[in-house]
Amino acid sequence: MSHKLYKNLIGGEWVAAKTGKTFLNSSPANKNDVVGEFQSSGADDVDAAVKAAAEAFKTWRLVPAPKRAEILYRAGHLLEQRKEQYAKDMTREMGKVLAETRGDVQEAIDTAYYMAGEGRRLFGQTTPSELPNKFAMSVRMPVGVCGMIAPWNFPMAIPSWKLFPALVCGNTCVIKPAEDTPLSTFNLVQTLIDAGLPKGVVNIVTGFGPEAGAPLVEHPGVHAVSFTGSSEVGRLVGQVAAANFKPCSLEMGGKNAMIVLDDANLDLALDGAVWGAFGTTGQRCTATSRIILHKSIAAEFTEKLVARAKALKVGDGLDESVEMGPQVNEQQIETSTKYCEVAQQEGAKLLCGGKRLTEGAYANGTFFAPTVFSEVKPEMRIAQEEVFGPVVSLIECSSFDEALEIANSIKYGLSTALYSRNVNNAYRAIRDLEAGITYINAPTIGAEVHLPFGGVKQTGNGHREGGTGALDFYTTWKSVYVDYSDKLQRAQID
Ligand code: NAD
Repeated sequence: MSHKLYKNLIGGEWVAAKTGKTFLNSSPANKNDVVGEFQSSGADDVDAAVKAAAEAFKTWRLVPAPKRAEILYRAGHLLEQRKEQYAKDMTREMGKVLAETRGDVQEAIDTAYYMAGEGRRLFGQTTPSELPNKFAMSVRMPVGVCGMIAPWNFPMAIPSWKLFPALVCGNTCVIKPAEDTPLSTFNLVQTLIDAGLPKGVVNIVTGFGPEAGAPLVEHPGVHAVSFTGSSEVGRLVGQVAAANFKPCSLEMGGKNAMIVLDDANLDLALDGAVWGAFGTTGQRCTATSRIILHKSIAAEFTEKLVARAKALKVGDGLDESVEMGPQVNEQQIETSTKYCEVAQQEGAKLLCGGKRLTEGAYANGTFFAPTVFSEVKPEMRIAQEEVFGPVVSLIECSSFDEALEIANSIKYGLSTALYSRNVNNAYRAIRDLEAGITYINAPTIGAEVHLPFGGVKQTGNGHREGGTGALDFYTTWKSVYVDYSDKLQRAQID
């Protein structure tokens, strides 16, 4: 079957990479299904994109924010109209089931409308001056050219979290999508173009991390860097940005815990566990990868969870009856396989799954069976390190205090969940769980776009996407003093 050739978007033109190289993007459900051919870009392509963004910034920053926002409203509307097609494209290139890719597109729609609303807010402060006949205020200024590097697991939602707030704030952008999911970024940006975005305001450079991502972080013309991905790569990105004093937002890995206490609604917790652990094939930064069970309910919960995991229908996400799609690529399968081996070597008990699915319809894809481990100890690697696959670890505890201690005993701090009907426990969890997100009686996944999104410890470096946190990253404060006294007034002296 012939496939389409996609080019980089630079200064409003579709151009081939100067490297002369391309790569194929194929479906994880069937490697013979080629979704498209994309440019394998290098430093020269990044340079051209940054220059185009710098040129566009000269005029885009002067467009009134409510007018910039109108483009986002229109893009949101177009996304609504194209939701089904874009969801299908996303399932084909990334694997997750249609219900979830529809949700991914919906997240971009929600972000478009939320950030468009900011066009008429972008609030600063007015405050009294200490001197007479003097006016003081602070205003948000755009940062300039923003470099954006995205992962593959939320191929449209995450680029929208980066692009839409940056745009409404008056910045111009160069985005490098993940090599596994460039098409969804093209679809997102196409809605902006069709909504009237001027040339050069958003530029796309596709390619691989070291060749196309690293030059974007290093480029002196990039004023801020927004990265979502693994902690290993995030560390590199952060170091390069720091050396150049660039603002840098890092959103990275997780090892998210769900605590189920003896007073929980067990059926509700079970539903949450299945969704949290196996939704997106476990490939969410917020995936439930540890379930900390009170020992009095552990046996019953474990038995029911294993039955549910075994019953999940795994297959091509385009089939509406499928509940769990493939993993995104061979590398993720290798990681899941490796961790299943390590877990068993360390003494964890494999209750189901633990292997790649290869028979019949699975033969040409990267499918992994839903996997549950019991008898996991908090210090084991399977309980400490991010797997990013459909693999969940069950850890027993004797008390709520112990559960909190186990939940916090990791280097990450993204999402957490508590299932309990006791309001005192709920508020203690909110206070004591070391994480950027805590859910009560809901799984660790399910963020909404108008709340801050991000984590503590090695999950992030203090910034937030979503909500007003994003505005804080994509603007810089300017304090303004207007003296109408007609004389020199000296602060702190007169
Ligand atoms: P990854 O770190 O391998 O890649 C992320 C992006 O960085 C890709 O676009 C890649 O091409 C690029 N990249 C790779 N090497 C680079 C380099 N040297 N310089 C610059 N860019 C480079 O991550 P992934 O496998 O795409 O995504 C999975 C990871 O993302 C998981 O760890 C997951 O937890 C994390 N994630 C975090 C969040 C969050 O908001 N906290 C959300 C989604 C995913």
